[in-house]
Amino acid sequence: MHPFLLDLSEFLLDTIFPIHCLGCGEEGPLYLCAECIVSLERVRLQNCIMCHKSSLDGITHNTCATQLSPIQTLSLFAYKDNRISRAIILGKYKFVPAIYAELGHMLALFLKEKYDLSQADFIIPIPLSPQRKRWRGFNQAEIVAAQISINSNIPLSKALIRNKNTKTQKDLNKKDRLENMKGSFEVSAKANLKGKHVLLIDDVLTTGSTLLEATKALKEAGVTSVICVTLARD
Ligand SMILES: [Zn+2]
Ligand SMILES: [Zn+2]
Repeated sequence: MHPFLLDLSEFLLDTIFPIHCLGCGEEGPLYLCAECIVSLERVRLQNCIMCHKSSLDGITHNTCATQLSPIQTLSLFAYKDNRISRAIILGKYKFVPAIYAELGHMLALFLKEKYDLSQADFIIPIPLSPQRKRWRGFNQAEIVAAQISINSNIPLSKALIRNKNTKTQKDLNKKDRLENMKGSFEVSAKANLKGKHVLLIDDVLTTGSTLLEATKALKEAGVTSVICVTLARD
């Protein structure tokens, strides 16, 4: 589309559908206004992704770690804050990628402030199946990952691919989720990730089965270490 038309259509959309903050309802340019976004409930104690018990900085316990597990898992927001859950659900089902950019920006600042990310070689989002990406038009994890990449100068890689259409995980228990995810990721044959350190990005951490399965695929492709990072934790 011509840039002018693009501006015009954005202007018309903003005029017809003004944005209201999901937290306080104030009209403004953002889905979460500056005041609300800083007051969102944050995760106070990070957990080990394997046993879900608390662990300093989300480091995977020695006793839980395997050759194919992530070394650390960090989440910023508490999903139980209903402003967060509403924002994440609305973004996904009403097709509003801008919400993920706003939240992703916060996640990028959090990571920069608290952790030394200079060791990371690539930022890799959890991919959607091509079918689901076509339907939604965007991958929310990719938008969050792009924000971290912009803020840290660590390159974004799309080397991880989804090779089967998994059932939606929503109604499955932890064991069935792991089973459902089995073999659903692979690393592009063109990518060389041998010896690399990767930040793996997703929107919400629930049982961790998606992140664990993706980590496994990355490590089997030669990745040295994986740190999982999510916007929110359930
Ligand atoms: Zn607000
Ligand atoms: Zn553990």
